[in-house]
Amino acid sequence: MIIIFDVMNWKSHTLIAFFLSLAIFYFVFSIREAVQIPQLLILSIFSALSALVPDLDHDISKGRKLLDAAVIVFAFGIAAYFYFFNSASGIFSSFFGPLIIFFAILGFYFIAFKILKPKHRGATHTFVLCFAFSVLVYLIAGLQLAVAGLIGYFSHLLADKEIKIL
Ligand SMILES: [Zn+2]
Repeated sequence: MIIIFDVMNWKSHTLIAFFLSLAIFYFVFSIREAVQIPQLLILSIFSALSALVPDLDHDISKGRKLLDAAVIVFAFGIAAYFYFFNSASGIFSSFFGPLIIFFAILGFYFIAFKILKPKHRGATHTFVLCFAFSVLVYLIAGLQLAVAGLIGYFSHLLADKEIKIL
């Protein structure tokens, strides 16, 4: 089955997630100091990229190329965030921690895509996978990015009017 990759849809999902995340982190979590602007932007960009994840199941070359590129940026974003804002010690305080995170995310994406390849609006458009995604981000990159990811992913489901639990 061929699914046309809807560019408008792709754009609206990222825009909704970006501004929703920006508003939530600004107003609810009070990330609004001048020095916090880069952090606010990274969180919102991460949220926007997370809004692309539910449509990983689009299976045509154009969509795939866009998504592959998006995931690479996404992985780079997490690694960059970790490099600049994480205060962990040990291996993660060095350059290698973010590097490991970068390749771990890429590896996870490409392997998961190969193995799962769910049908469109199947498993990826459920609350369970939204939650699983957020937990994964939490384990890799911490609470703030997990919240950003949750906002992005969840806003996608809402925009699609997909309210399946499983
Ligand atoms: Zn969708």
